[in-house]
Amino acid sequence: MQEILDAIQAGATGEDIANLAIPESYRAAFVRKDEAAMFEGMDSGDKDPRRSLHVEEVPTPELAPDECYIAVMASSINFNTVWTSIFEPLPTFMFLERLGKESVWGARHDRDYHVVGSDAAAVVLRVGSAVRNWQPGDRVTIHCNYVDDQDPAQHDDAMLAGNQRIWGFESNFGGLADLSVVKANQLMPKPEHLTWEEAAVSALVASTSYRMLVGRHAAQMKQGDAVLVWGATGGLGGYAVQLILNGGGIPVGVVSSADKVELLNSIGVERVIDRKAEGYRFWADEHTQDEREWRRLGKKIRELAGKDPEIVFEHPGRSTMGASVFVAARGGTVVTCAATSGYMIEYDNRHLWMKLKKIVSSHFANYREAWEMNDLIRHGAICPIMSKAYPLDEVGEAAYQVHHNMHEGKLGVLCLAPKSGEGITDPDKREQVGEERITAFQRHAESLQRG
Ligand code: NAP
Repeated sequence: MQEILDAIQAGATGEDIANLAIPESYRAAFVRKDEAAMFEGMDSGDKDPRRSLHVEEVPTPELAPDECYIAVMASSINFNTVWTSIFEPLPTFMFLERLGKESVWGARHDRDYHVVGSDAAAVVLRVGSAVRNWQPGDRVTIHCNYVDDQDPAQHDDAMLAGNQRIWGFESNFGGLADLSVVKANQLMPKPEHLTWEEAAVSALVASTSYRMLVGRHAAQMKQGDAVLVWGATGGLGGYAVQLILNGGGIPVGVVSSADKVELLNSIGVERVIDRKAEGYRFWADEHTQDEREWRRLGKKIRELAGKDPEIVFEHPGRSTMGASVFVAARGGTVVTCAATSGYMIEYDNRHLWMKLKKIVSSHFANYREAWEMNDLIRHGAICPIMSKAYPLDEVGEAAYQVHHNMHEGKLGVLCLAPKSGEGITDPDKREQVGEERITAFQRHAESLQRG
């Protein structure tokens, strides 16, 4: 891998890169099948990714005709890596076993280790014989929608394909590694004004937020819509609020500290609710929700936005869904893609049907949506929300931080890139977009650390 890194850093041509040998093994972060029961009987919060995530050499898999080998310069932590590393709700080895039965190429994925990670900024090293649009040397970001083109459903919307998967979660050979194999239809051009780690953190969460808010399959936000965004400085939320501002909507962000309020204000989000300071208790006890608390939240949103939100951007799940359905405007949409706090959801159906509200589900994004989102970043309309980058060897600590909601925005992970700050090839564009905007989350995290 050192030879590959040297060539990339020296600005080698595509032809030179195509002539470099692909190593027989590479460094990767993975969980082990024989440890899948290691946290049995423990509370979710006590399950520690630092114990289950290992960083060691693994053998390089063969390349299928529709795939590329990529040198992963940087990746990021997504919540799915947290789920895999704590083996919740189920060990992800069952996904690999299912994929293993699908085809000869699928069988490569069924191993006793699972290389995790669903984001990457990378350089293409080799392309399979069926790949047309990409060449060795191309600098790319990777989206995680893993589909084949032989399923009729995917030609309408790839997310509807029966064998749609998330790369590095439901497939092996993910992005938290120095090398990976990806399908050619996961590749997108790297935003050249960003460093490797800044470029690596967006694709999964930003594309998910784009489909939820902008794409034609979910909430389809209009100019002037008020949108309540839970976790507005988290991975999904940090892109959602930018998309809302960029599209002429009115974001109302919910966060859990004064620091996060300050961070949102600094990127132009003026209407922010500190849920901790407000002390909302939507659940009076484990079984009973308190409608008075829903009303209190609704009143606060009206005070800030001047109306009820046409869209509620939902992902915490059990702890907030009752409130989300209640506060959505008459005829409004609750768009949901997750259930971090619990997936057995309860809400008062009378508020849904009597006020003609909708709950719309959404999951990642198809290639076109991911590409459109990537373009918004390339053009500088949306900025990365990376607060910190960890070396790959500290991937367990980074996952631990996300598991315990100790982070802001996104945590990047340096893979083959030896240090932060490398990979910018369009400094003029960077200046035009503005260092302040690009590094807002990073600078905020640094100032918190300084105290
Ligand atoms: P994240 O970076 O951890 O951000 C989530 C935010 O939600 C946190 O910053 C926190 O903000 C807020 N939050 C957490 N628990 C909450 C609760 N009980 N009540 C209210 N707010 C709460 O995670 P993320 O990357 O945004 O992902 C969020 C969820 O979406 C995860 O479950 C992830 O697996 C899922 N996801 C799904 C897809 C998909 O395609 N379906 C894609 C990406 C992510 P405050 O504490 O500041 O309020």
